[in-house]
Amino acid sequence: VSEYITHEHDVLIIGAGGAGLRAAVEVSAAGAKVAVISKSLLGKAHTVMAEGGVAAAMGNVDDRDSWRVHFADTMRGGQYLNNWRMAELHAREAPERVRELEAWGALFDRTSDGRILQRNFGGHRYPRLAHVGDRTGLEMIRTLQDHGIHLGLDVFMEHTVVTLLKDGARIAGAFGYDRERGRFHLFRAKAVVLATGGIGRAFKITSNSWEYTGDGHSLAYHAGASLMDMEFVQFHPTGMIWPPSVRGILVTEGVRGEGGVLRNRDGERFMFKDIPPLYAAQTADTPEEGWRYTQGDKNARRPPELLTRDHVARCIRREVREGRGSPHGGVFLDIAWIKEKLPHAPEHIKKKLPSMYHQFKQLADIDITQEPMEVGPTTHYMMGGVKVDADSQMSDVPGLYAAGECAAGLHGANRLGGNSLSDLLVFGKRAGEHAATYSKQNSLGAISPEQLASTEKWALAAFERKASENPYSVQHTLQDVMQDLVGIVRHEAEMQQALERIRELKAASQRVGVDGHREYNAGWHTALDLQNLLTVSEMVARSALERKESRGAHFRDDFPEKEKEYAGFNIVVRMGAGGEMQLTREPIPPMREELKQIIEEMK
Ligand code: FAD
Repeated sequence: VSEYITHEHDVLIIGAGGAGLRAAVEVSAAGAKVAVISKSLLGKAHTVMAEGGVAAAMGNVDDRDSWRVHFADTMRGGQYLNNWRMAELHAREAPERVRELEAWGALFDRTSDGRILQRNFGGHRYPRLAHVGDRTGLEMIRTLQDHGIHLGLDVFMEHTVVTLLKDGARIAGAFGYDRERGRFHLFRAKAVVLATGGIGRAFKITSNSWEYTGDGHSLAYHAGASLMDMEFVQFHPTGMIWPPSVRGILVTEGVRGEGGVLRNRDGERFMFKDIPPLYAAQTADTPEEGWRYTQGDKNARRPPELLTRDHVARCIRREVREGRGSPHGGVFLDIAWIKEKLPHAPEHIKKKLPSMYHQFKQLADIDITQEPMEVGPTTHYMMGGVKVDADSQMSDVPGLYAAGECAAGLHGANRLGGNSLSDLLVFGKRAGEHAATYSKQNSLGAISPEQLASTEKWALAAFERKASENPYSVQHTLQDVMQDLVGIVRHEAEMQQALERIRELKAASQRVGVDGHREYNAGWHTALDLQNLLTVSEMVARSALERKESRGAHFRDDFPEKEKEYAGFNIVVRMGAGGEMQLTREPIPPMREELKQIIEEMK
């Protein structure tokens, strides 16, 4: 038995992205002792990659905007499966959270009269995204880190949590290792906040980096928490597709927000061909009207390129399948065309989209101010996650909270762009606040030596099996399975096949062996991540099989329509008494009358 390095805190936060840092700021401000753990270096979380902006109804660019419109937009985007209380809190509180960031030093782009500038994004009725060029996440993380460090927090970089520990029903801490030395760490805490982000690495083509193996989702599941909406995986319509080494890297929706258009290989703006009835009244009739919208004309309606991501991704897939795709199997995204409209278009594009300009120049040798980009769908965001109480963000496990991408509820069947950065500010704060209060009302839980010994044995098992399966090949096979069989368009038989393959891969993961020692052993880390990837993949496939309809990001070609019967519940996953994965349909509670009216008015 090896030794553990033990740490004690009031609140332990797993994840140093926006949700984790915002929670940490709140815990620290409440006078509780807090630790933040991150798998990679501090400042390298996904939040830092966020480009387009943070959605908040401040009404700086269009004063018709309000929390009510933002609420209605979010619910419509989520196809009304959202937790409506979360959608309400989010819409009401996001402006304050953004202004607070500004007070802590964040420098947003400005309107000509000095207020925070807001840009258009898909599914948002008015320009709503506060932004810093196309580097919004970087500014947010910088601000939260600076502010947090001054308040006081313990940071454990390059540490990975492999299991949550409980004392009876309630949370008692977490167990993990440091990547550098491979030593084990025991984190004892009165409350734990999961802020681990997404699951993109369960798929082959993704905008997500190596860290996003669904750890928080899987940790919560194994600790007995419920998860919901796991069938809803967002495939962003525009990822890079060429050269192959950069496939999946995100091309921000901001490009379309600034006037970029989608064309097939015949030069046709195909998005005008298929406008869903729910959005027909809000969508431009002509390219001219769409252009005016992107330039701030309040009387114009948005171009169809700014319809929700699920729809745009499927339209692109259709063009490619029907033989109208670009040379490398995508479509064209063209912002260079705006030189027909604006005198200094190249400078304008470079100013508005500096990262995109450099990304294409350096990675694909394309000058986006002069030529179109080739793009295609990429796995981007997880709507599903830990089921939490809307106000406090506590899961079913007492003392265990979740916020940001690893929590479910706000986005329902489809997230609107920009609503993630606001999600993690609003609910990161709430999780931190409530976790701090919980920690003041409870003492440290006891952790049994047996729990620790069995975790340690499990974590080291791969070293005992030197000549067996390779962890990378199991991971790559799983990514292919999920991409091909549980991707943008789904079908019963294919998903059954995926479940069968997942079963085989689970067995293979039990035979995975690694060589060498524990210091910076990436093979070992990958072997440990496999449990998480396999758990979330199974949750996604099972939930997707259970929802026999198409809604939001979940599209089945054997059930291509929305079905009334499926409109009123979320699919919830939890571990059964015998360790099996259990699915239940949980009805959505009736919405408050006042909120119902808002939705009616905005139709
Ligand atoms: P993350 O920022 O993903 O942070 C997760 C943290 O958890 C990391 O620190 C990670 O190391 C840690 N972690 C994970 N597992 C473990 C473990 N086992 N042990 C310890 N630590 C762990 N959203 C918008 O609203 N607007 C945008 O413009 C936008 N652009 C985007 C662009 C890109 C390229 C991408 C990938 C996403 C974008 N998104 C955008 C989505 C948004 O950035 C993410 O959903 C959001 O940042 C998630 O924040 P988070 O705090 O929940 O998690």
